[in-house]
Amino acid sequence: MAEIYFDDDADLGLLKDKVIGVIGYGNQGRAQAWNLRDSGLQVLVGNREDDYAAAARRDGFQVLSVAEAAGRAHVLLLLIPDEILPAVFAQEIGPQLSPDKVLVFASGYNIYYRQVEPPPYVDVVLVAPRMIGKGVREGFLSGKGFPSLIAVHQDHSGQALPITLAIAKGIGSTKGGAVMSSFAEETICDLFNEHFGYLYSIRRAYEVLREAGCSPEAILLEFYASGEEMELARAHYEIGLWHQLPLHSQTSQYGQEVTARLSPEEEEQERARLRRIVENITSGRFAKEWTLEQQAGYPMWKRLRAQNLEHPMIVEERKLYRRLGRIPPEGEAAGSG
Ligand code: NDP
Repeated sequence: MAEIYFDDDADLGLLKDKVIGVIGYGNQGRAQAWNLRDSGLQVLVGNREDDYAAAARRDGFQVLSVAEAAGRAHVLLLLIPDEILPAVFAQEIGPQLSPDKVLVFASGYNIYYRQVEPPPYVDVVLVAPRMIGKGVREGFLSGKGFPSLIAVHQDHSGQALPITLAIAKGIGSTKGGAVMSSFAEETICDLFNEHFGYLYSIRRAYEVLREAGCSPEAILLEFYASGEEMELARAHYEIGLWHQLPLHSQTSQYGQEVTARLSPEEEEQERARLRRIVENITSGRFAKEWTLEQQAGYPMWKRLRAQNLEHPMIVEERKLYRRLGRIPPEGEAAGSG
């Protein structure tokens, strides 16, 4: 059973005399910097001179270049996109590392795929919120916190776990539970969830229901456009995936639990598909493909995004959202008028 750590397991005092450098001021960077500062810790931000840097200064943080921040801080939270980090690490962060610094990753990706190889004289740890940046800040402010996966990859100081827990506490995560994991496990679960195919499964359902004569409006409202999904997600979170079933009608419960089962053959085919997803991740094939895609200027992604936005389901969704007043009429920019 995975160990779960809460507030009482973590000592913020370990970070009292340490400068924390938050590298990147985006979704996670901004939320985590605010939370750490509100936890009474010394925080500075490392960013290129642009809008993000200006925002951090407006928010009252000292902002340095990434290299300067990496040189000045004892604990570095690496909160720039995973695909950008290897180059920034090689050019600006790595050369500034001295013994006993701590590198805190928010994703296992670059260590798991060895795209960042830190020197042996630093601690390398993971504090990966299972929460978007907005929720990281809101969870901190509400006092409920949010869960994270944590891990220690390299423990040079002999203090890597207590420091990891202190960072998790500083950002508000030991209120929600810091769950012991590994860089590999975090990467596999995270990527699997993204590769699982949720968006395409909704789209296949749309196509088949259109064939059955259902209107786009009825299908879209059934699947996601009504907001009912948000309530369901809340019920999954608060009550549990199966224990929330009594919130639904008997007919619905029977359908979800009994009718929706796959035959043994279909079940085996689906498991085989899911195993291929895992294998694509663990073999490194996905990471290689993604790196090549970036190097080529995202040709496949751009083509698919353009095609997907032209799919009849999305065209109908735009029409419905306009009619419901969620997005501005065609030709009118958002926020105008
Ligand atoms: P963002 O896309 O929000 O990061 C934006 C930041 O990265 C900005 O400060 C930006 O500054 C900086 N950045 C972008 N390009 C460069 C560059 N070439 N050189 C230097 N800085 C750059 O990232 P997230 O917050 O979404 O993700 C950060 C980490 O957190 C990742 O490891 C991610 O996997 C992890 N994570 C994210 C979650 C989420 O919900 N978003 C959830 C859990 C973990 P500028 O462009 O000004 O340089």
